[in-house]
Amino acid sequence: PTPYRDTMTSPVGRPGGRKRLTHHGKRTPRMNIHEYQAKEIFRRYGIPVPKGIPAMNADEAKKAAESLIAETKGEVVVVKAQIHAGGRGKAGGVKVVKGVEAAHAAAKELMGKVLVTPQTGPEGKQVQRLYVEQGLDIATELYLALTVDREQRRVVIMASSEGGVDIEEVAEHHPEKIHKVRIDPAVGLQGYQIRQLAYGLGLNKTAQKSFRKLISKLAELFVKEDCSIAEINPMIVTKTDEVVALDAKINFDGNGSFRHPDWEALEDPNETADTERQASEAGLSYIQLDGNIGCLVNGAGLAMSTMDTIQHFGGQPANFLDVGGGATQEAVTTAFKIILQSDKVQGIFVNIFGGIMKCDIIANGVIAATKELGLKVPLVVRLAGTNVDQGKKLLAESGLNITPADSMADGAKLIVELAGKAAG
Ligand code: GDP
Ligand code: MG
Repeated sequence: PTPYRDTMTSPVGRPGGRKRLTHHGKRTPRMNIHEYQAKEIFRRYGIPVPKGIPAMNADEAKKAAESLIAETKGEVVVVKAQIHAGGRGKAGGVKVVKGVEAAHAAAKELMGKVLVTPQTGPEGKQVQRLYVEQGLDIATELYLALTVDREQRRVVIMASSEGGVDIEEVAEHHPEKIHKVRIDPAVGLQGYQIRQLAYGLGLNKTAQKSFRKLISKLAELFVKEDCSIAEINPMIVTKTDEVVALDAKINFDGNGSFRHPDWEALEDPNETADTERQASEAGLSYIQLDGNIGCLVNGAGLAMSTMDTIQHFGGQPANFLDVGGGATQEAVTTAFKIILQSDKVQGIFVNIFGGIMKCDIIANGVIAATKELGLKVPLVVRLAGTNVDQGKKLLAESGLNITPADSMADGAKLIVELAGKAAG
């Protein structure tokens, strides 16, 4: 049987569950890549995409436009902001222009600009990469996406003739316009299912043929590349009835990372928060949140209930952090440093149930990190389980200003009070 690892949706403070954690050891989030990278993978599988060239600055974009215009003998190019978020078109991140100079101007305008789309959050994302593409003559804009239907335990294909920019709207107000088929893993995508989708999309004979190829290859790609999402919006029909992926979005399922050493090269450091990267390198499950109380906990379940308990007493957690069962003292030190580095943190709650994890290891990690970085905020520690007495003794003799707590509830209540006072 395939090793199946369940994932849970994100903890509190992340509406819509943008990230995932697993219960088992190392953090395995889903991983997002840029449009130009997704299209590179599409090309490898023979899925039609417009000709395009990535650019890291405006001059590179100009050169890209020159060579595309020379190669395609078309005047129109599209300059597209590369950020890990959709909705760029409406936010001014996609510029359809004529000629090299106009492309250069568009690139200069986009580079460094902060785009705010419904998917970036209010702080937006700064554009640091561009993609320059040949412009195509669009006859119709369609929608196509593959994802995993967790309940049915199948890959589901969703297709709609209402493609373009507002698929969320279609899903909400006209769900009947989204056609779905589920792929039986034992037999794969079937001809009748493809015809069903093509019919739903209203494709003519020539376009149907083109679509059949595209969807078969995309279904193959989805499985082989361990995707959790593969979305083409818009998938267009050109004036010559070819079906082409005009946009491309891929998310990988982090649980498959052991099979894909190539993923590392696809990561964009500008898209990952520094602290989250440090944590992932130390093998910690760490997710930054919006509150002011840092948490260091072992076990995903205990970490979740700790966050809930903090909220119950009126506080807001600054992070989710599971140091895991077998963490070393170095990993604990890194974890505590990551919490200390955040200027939002006004109090820290260490909540450890020592099973495999020993309380003295936690105590030593806390002491090592605070020696290096200092401790300017209140710290409440609740230790229970293996080596608890040694842990408590180490902390008591450390000279650090630590408030001990006997239970999770006491600890949470205490840290909320202390952090409130510290904040004034
Ligand atoms: P998103 O808004 O982030 O999803 O970015 P898209 O890549 O989907 O682009 C948004 C819109 O720009 C598309 O729906 C198209 O209408 C338009 N667009 C993108 N590329 C081209 C092109 O080559 N030709 C034309 N005419 N329009 C394009
Ligand atoms: Mg799009």
